[in-house]
Amino acid sequence: MLVGKVAKGKQCDVKGCDKPAVRSLQKAVTANSGLDLTGQDRVYLCKEHYKVVKKSLKKERTITKWRYMTSGF
Ligand SMILES: [Zn+2]
Repeated sequence: MLVGKVAKGKQCDVKGCDKPAVRSLQKAVTANSGLDLTGQDRVYLCKEHYKVVKKSLKKERTITKWRYMTSGF
């Protein structure tokens, strides 16, 4: 088993996706990912959609950094 916390047979919470979930995340973490999620506080993601969320987090970090850099002007 890849991740102990995700129950066997649990599916990805992204609408229209029926792949097996490999990760569970707090929904707040996925807010900027643009994904249509059906979960409440906690969402389950397949490998592919987890990657999408991770990418969106990286993007957000970059924007935050940029804001910080330009906030002095
Ligand atoms: Zn998925």
